[in-house]
Amino acid sequence: MPSIVISGDAVLNEYGEVVGEYIVVEDGKIGRVRKGSPPAGALRLGGYLFPAFIDAHTHPASLGLALRGANLRGARSPVEVARRLAGTRGPVAYGRGWDQELFEDPRSLPVRELLDAAVPDRPAVAVRVCGHMATANTLALEIARPWERYPDFVDKERGVLVEDAVYYTLEKVLANIDVEPLVKAAADKLASLGVGGISAMACTRREAEAFASLAGKGALKLRVACYPSPEELEKVEGILGGSDRGGRVALIGVKLFADGSLGARTAKLREDYYDAPGTRGQLLADSSTIAEWARRVSSKGLRLAVHAIGDEALDHVIDGFRRAGSVRGFRVEHVSIAHDDQIDSLAELGVYAVVQPHFRVTDWWIDRRLGPERLRLAYRFASLLRRGVPVALSTDTPVEPPEPWETLSAALGLCSQPSCRAEESLTSREAFTAYTRVAAEASGGPLSLMGRLEQGAVAAIAWSPSNPLEPGWKGPARLVYPGDGLVKGN
Ligand SMILES: [Zn+2]
Repeated sequence: MPSIVISGDAVLNEYGEVVGEYIVVEDGKIGRVRKGSPPAGALRLGGYLFPAFIDAHTHPASLGLALRGANLRGARSPVEVARRLAGTRGPVAYGRGWDQELFEDPRSLPVRELLDAAVPDRPAVAVRVCGHMATANTLALEIARPWERYPDFVDKERGVLVEDAVYYTLEKVLANIDVEPLVKAAADKLASLGVGGISAMACTRREAEAFASLAGKGALKLRVACYPSPEELEKVEGILGGSDRGGRVALIGVKLFADGSLGARTAKLREDYYDAPGTRGQLLADSSTIAEWARRVSSKGLRLAVHAIGDEALDHVIDGFRRAGSVRGFRVEHVSIAHDDQIDSLAELGVYAVVQPHFRVTDWWIDRRLGPERLRLAYRFASLLRRGVPVALSTDTPVEPPEPWETLSAALGLCSQPSCRAEESLTSREAFTAYTRVAAEASGGPLSLMGRLEQGAVAAIAWSPSNPLEPGWKGPARLVYPGDGLVKGN
């Protein structure tokens, strides 16, 4: 591979420092970063060059689906949800993003009957913004029959599903849909926003196959770290084991759920929900299960990533990790509610907190769930970082928008929702490092050497006409060099 020179008005390293004006890429790796005018033949872009963002928690097939399906964000009533679903084309009416807290009557949910009336001839599924709750129409329910597998997670009469019943129903309903174009659309979208690598959480066999196939054709712009669920581990191992597909996609770890979400009141809290006395959420994996999985994945040389939103779920993760022994490099996803002693335990264990700053914006109702006392425990990015926990930023897209500038703004506290508190916000340099170098390390495997401009690092380079460190930066950004040749056409 010949060396390539890319120049801009400024080159920023992963700490947000201006370190030069052009980058020499040698053999797909960062060679040198230099000041002054670039040699002849350089690709001159103007603007800012910097290590591509790494999104440490994404759901690529769901993002592809969301890009194609109905956007249900901001719907003001269940009727509007049904109407937007009816406007979709294709064999399945799929939509995502409704939030009952935005409905004129927040106690009403989209129900089966309503979807049946709006979409009578195709399976239809309307997923809540958090992904932990959904409504299906009768056709979709008949295909999946989720009550046979997950009777506790299905309200058959109303067609309302939570947790595993949501994923199971989607898997069944979408079984005949080709995943490769969905995953490709998601990867292209992310690259067009300046993202160079992702962790694909709860990565399925079909996603792994699609990534491997795209990588084989040279059509995958991103680098992907796959974290399948325990149920999919062996299948994904069968596809990705043994080869790292030119560093493009690899099996890195296993994703486990310890609890659900605050929106669906399934996040496991130590104390009752403020707006639902007697309810504390659902524990999906206790400390013994977590310890057992931690040992199992360690013995395979993999990492464990555990979803924990509520404080009691986090107790189980910490306890499980302690019992497992060495868990350095393991990850806790979300860490939405954390007490000081829990943060100190995470620091001691040496595990990453993989957080989603934009949750602050979407969970604008969080004070209803937690009440005024517990609000200070929510989204403690600054406390995590300053008490010694490596913090990686991510979007959980399509749960949150995939645009890096949305994530950075929320991390900096440039939002007005109750949890956008200045004392728990990051500086733009902290946020930038957490979204490049630390997110790459937390992703692991072929992504570990991304998100930085050191000599020998993977040359995944992003560009923006304006400075991404500027508070309130609005993009745009795009991936200009994905590690092995210039990206064309984005
Ligand atoms: Zn997720």
